[in-house]
Amino acid sequence: MAVQAPENAQLSEEELWGEITATLPSNWDKRARITLPLPSVLSLSSAAEEQDMIAFSCDEAHHWGRRAFYEGIMGKFKALLAAFPKELQMTASLLLSEYQQARIALACPVCVYNTLRLELLPEYPSLKSWDL
Ligand SMILES: [Zn+2]
Repeated sequence: MAVQAPENAQLSEEELWGEITATLPSNWDKRARITLPLPSVLSLSSAAEEQDMIAFSCDEAHHWGRRAFYEGIMGKFKALLAAFPKELQMTASLLLSEYQQARIALACPVCVYNTLRLELLPEYPSLKSWDL
């Protein structure tokens, strides 16, 4: 059953961060997850009908529905790593396996790719950033 976001569920970025930080008590780093109220989660999602989401703590707070993440983002990430002009076989293998874990200890694939690109930019100035 699809869940519809109430029309007034859209929060500003500031309100959303307020709700996120309000859920971070002391010892937050020892918690297994961050819990957000459902309306906040729905407002985060561009695919509001998906309840199962993956959210990252990278600066851009990137997030996707699980299906969009594994079918879209990860597919593009694999293709970009495969086309990377520098040998990244071991790095790519480690990164891709980490994204299959139940708890992912990385920034999102977009930020990871863009960081790799920036780190190697002097060698490959023609590499384009991955813009969403
Ligand atoms: Zn990101």
